[in-house]
Amino acid sequence: MATLSARATDDAIAKLAGDPACARGLQWIDNSAAWTTEQQIRLTEIPAPEFDEARRGEALKELLAASGFQVRTDKAGNVIAERAGSDAKSVILLAAHLDTVFPAGTDVKVKRSGGRLLAPGISDNGVGLASLAALARALAESRVRTTKTIVLVGDVGEEGEGNLRGMRALTDSYGSRLSAVIAVDGPSTDYITTQGIASRRFEVSITGPGGHSWSDFGAPNPITAISRGIVKFSAVQVPSDPRSSFNVGSIEGGTSVNSIPSSVKVKVDLRSEDEAELGRLEAAMREAMAAGAKEEISVTQSANDALKTSVRSLGTRPAGKLPDDSLLLATIRNVDTYLLNRSRLERSSTDANIPLSMGIPAVALGGGGRGGGSHTLDEWYDPAGRELGLKRLFLAVVSLAGVER
Ligand SMILES: [Zn+2]
Repeated sequence: MATLSARATDDAIAKLAGDPACARGLQWIDNSAAWTTEQQIRLTEIPAPEFDEARRGEALKELLAASGFQVRTDKAGNVIAERAGSDAKSVILLAAHLDTVFPAGTDVKVKRSGGRLLAPGISDNGVGLASLAALARALAESRVRTTKTIVLVGDVGEEGEGNLRGMRALTDSYGSRLSAVIAVDGPSTDYITTQGIASRRFEVSITGPGGHSWSDFGAPNPITAISRGIVKFSAVQVPSDPRSSFNVGSIEGGTSVNSIPSSVKVKVDLRSEDEAELGRLEAAMREAMAAGAKEEISVTQSANDALKTSVRSLGTRPAGKLPDDSLLLATIRNVDTYLLNRSRLERSSTDANIPLSMGIPAVALGGGGRGGGSHTLDEWYDPAGRELGLKRLFLAVVSLAGVER
């Protein structure tokens, strides 16, 4: 039975692609790769650090509006473009995050080297944003009429400490109208992210009396204390199944070379495929940091309360998994079969975590082309072949939304 229905849907994608309206949309994608890449460069060169996405959002808003979409910005800062279907109660939502991990002042000018574009954020998520712009144009050019409403969103707060606040606001406002969510993040078309990795992020700080490096020598040192804690924590073994990870991502503290610091802070990211394992990892992290401070107290023979350790949550991402028999997954697989694209199922931590944790069908997909070095200053993107990713998104969205004939 399953084979029969899968084959029936396969034919449906071929039929869909041959529909005159859809064919116009696909044709536009084929003819407009250079335009799409231009938009990507323009958007990437507008800085969008965490919590400061508004300027890039405005530029995206203009692009989407130029394709005839009704565009608004919600309270969270999400740029939301709607294309009404005949059934207003059903929504297919496609989102790409506006924010980058790079702080204000980072040089985001796009440079070229051979076929590659080089700039922080060019792939993650310049690709996703360019894909939104291209899909808006392709839908407009196709003049396809759909049953479900198609919503394209440049959303805020995906990276760093944003805590997926943009996607949280979207699932709140659309609620039960969401029939599927696709997060477009990065380029690669060889995966379908169907599982959201749970994560917890913390800022651990240790404070102490501080002092002069010479005259107060022997006082407990918060930097030394937290270093002891980090070393202890890094010795913690994590299982490979469920796959789990930890990272100490930044450290900050102290004022000068000849002062004993009075405070230090580190930021820690913990991830796991399993919430219970993540809970164990968090407990181990708290224990190691407390033990590090205790050891520093003991070595310096200080009073027990000379150092204070505190742990503050910077955000949590819930886990979630798309059921194997979901229509969303079957649709993307059928589109992949039609486009001769090979893809595998992936697990990751993306905007899709939020809808998945609420039982709303969701995936994360790439927008096409190739890229690398994401979250580094050496990030690159090669747009060759990006049409495949865009056609894949176009066919999936239109198929899910249903064509009105
Ligand atoms: Zn991303």
